[in-house]
Amino acid sequence: MCRVIAVSNQKGGVGKTTTAVNLAAALGAAGRKTLLVDTDPQGNSSSGVGVDRRKLSQSVYDVLIRDAEIQKAILATAFNHLDLLPSSLDLAGAEIELAEKPHRESVLKRALVQVKDQYAYILIDCPPSLGFITTNALTAADSVLIPIQCEFYALEGLSQLMNSVRRVKRQYNGALDIEGVLLTMYDGRLNLTQQVVDEVKKYFKGKVFGTVIPRTVRLSEAPSFGQPIQYFDRSCKGAEAYNALAAEIIQNHES
Ligand code: ADP
Ligand code: MG
Repeated sequence: MCRVIAVSNQKGGVGKTTTAVNLAAALGAAGRKTLLVDTDPQGNSSSGVGVDRRKLSQSVYDVLIRDAEIQKAILATAFNHLDLLPSSLDLAGAEIELAEKPHRESVLKRALVQVKDQYAYILIDCPPSLGFITTNALTAADSVLIPIQCEFYALEGLSQLMNSVRRVKRQYNGALDIEGVLLTMYDGRLNLTQQVVDEVKKYFKGKVFGTVIPRTVRLSEAPSFGQPIQYFDRSCKGAEAYNALAAEIIQNHES
């Protein structure tokens, strides 16, 4: 059984891509065949797993807009049990093009159905917006994983995200679940951090992952080497944290 998880938060810079890349790599390293789907025109998860988008013939754009065969756009990465459906820059225009398609909210879902049986997990890295691409991701997903940065305005904007989740649940995907809320860029030395953690736990009762992702410079360095943290520096705190998150998710679904 494949579990499709959308990593979403319309705020930029909260750790969506870092989480999608490193959680996908951790699941792959744990022997779970995983597909990482990059739906952000920025393409940071594609480059984060060492894929140069300038050399691609097909991407998630062709799948969403040109009805290309998804299998042909999927690439194997250099990492264990990890495949990638890359994004491309033209995805930036896809919001408008999608609006003109029939069943525009379920294009990604219909594509993923064709490859689902090959994977244990599919992680979708969402763009920092709540447009059609995010609606497609939420419609295709079994659940949404929400990274929240431990900062002063952490909860700001989350009611819009939760409205989108409820709307997709009501209209297109009644089974959509909250996979969990992930606290990212945690710095235990700051008093503010603990305050934010308490607030988030109050708002999302029982939905917050036990694993917290620490702020560590290694996590911000790894993408420029095109490597997930487990391959860039396997013994650092960041690698340990994403491995623990993968174990938590595996435990939730496979026990
Ligand atoms: P998003 O995809 O939500 O925009 P990113 O994952 O790209 O967020 O993260 C934003 C920036 O913060 C990136 O430069 C990334 O390398 C950095 N970053 C993310 N998580 C951490 C962390 N735990 N520690 C240090 N830097 C991080
Ligand atoms: Mg991102």
